[in-house]
Order: sequence, then C-alpha cells, then structure tokens
Amino acid sequence: MSDRLLLHVCCGPCSMHPLSVLVNEYGADNITGLFYNPNIHPKEEFSKRRENALIAADHYGINLVTSDDLMLDKWRKYGPVENKLRCMMCYDLRLEYAAKYAASNGYNAFSTTLLVSPWQDHQYIIDKCNALAEKYGIRFHYEDYRTGYRQGQEMAKAIDLYRQKFCGCMWSAPAAIRESIILP
Ligand code: SF4
Repeated sequence: MSDRLLLHVCCGPCSMHPLSVLVNEYGADNITGLFYNPNIHPKEEFSKRRENALIAADHYGINLVTSDDLMLDKWRKYGPVENKLRCMMCYDLRLEYAAKYAASNGYNAFSTTLLVSPWQDHQYIIDKCNALAEKYGIRFHYEDYRTGYRQGQEMAKAIDLYRQKFCGCMWSAPAAIRESIILP
C-alpha cells in the first residue's frame, strides 16, 4: 500500500510550492489537504482563503477537506502586541488537529504548508510536528519549503489566487479590520 499524506493547508498561495513537490513524491491520489484554520478573521477573510485553498487543491487534483471552525473569542483573549504565546497556541491548535485527523483516518504521514513561509516560526513548527508524530504514531513529513516561497507566490499569481496581506488573526490584521472585530 502506498504512503498516504495528510497536508495541513493554511491557504492557497502557501500550498502551491509544497504541492508541486509532494504530488511527484506521493501522487495526487495519495494526498489529502486539510483546511483547518480557526485563526483567520473575520468571516469574509476566512471564506476567501478557504475558497482559494480549494482552487489550489483543484489545480493539483487533490482532495481538500475543510472545516468551518472560526474562533474569535479564543484570540480576543490575547493582547494587541505581537505575542509569541498567541502564535504558539495558534500553531499548536491547528497542528494537533491535523495530526489527530491524520492518525484517525488512516494516513501514514502528515505535514503542513506553514513550512513554506519565511514569516512563521519554522523551528517551533518542526519541534511541534515531531512531538505530535510521536504522540499519534505517524510520520511527520518534513521539507524546508521556504526555498520555494517566491516561486510558489508566482505560481499563485499565475492562476490568479487571492494573496492575503496579513497572517490571519485579528491581531495581525490591518487596524480597520482589527477594530471592527474587537470592538463590540
Ligand atoms: S499572527 Fe499568525 S500565527 Fe500568530 S496567532 Fe495570528 S494568525 Fe496565528
């Protein structure tokens, strides 16, 4: 039986480069994407990113499972300044969900498109995924996709994907968006 990979997908543009590599390694039929990102605020932004993740998955012929979970209150508890704890919570939540999903649905390995971004805490993500692999008895597929970040963005541009200007949560959003979410 061939290896089956569950790929946590944070957004369409970030999935372009990793998928261009992974479909050659596993075959499109053996890869499932998982869009689980309750950190993307507000709802309109969440829907736009999910829609574009589906377009990218379709481009590579892979199936993408999506979740509606959106957790505004969990993020409202954090402060306005760049907060390492908040990002750790954000990585932990999404990666744990992906690893658990992979283990419970018969995948041999899991990975994440967060590994393509030069803006994310790459080493923290590696350490967390290794710990989750051990916890759930599956393999963490690691590659440093950052070398293909620019290429992936160009590929996203070529198929007209929406390329967001902020990380995702209310604290990373432009002031006007942030205030509309935070203020009652
Ligand atoms: S800045 Fe990005 S990684 Fe950090 S909590 Fe917000 S969405 Fe998550």
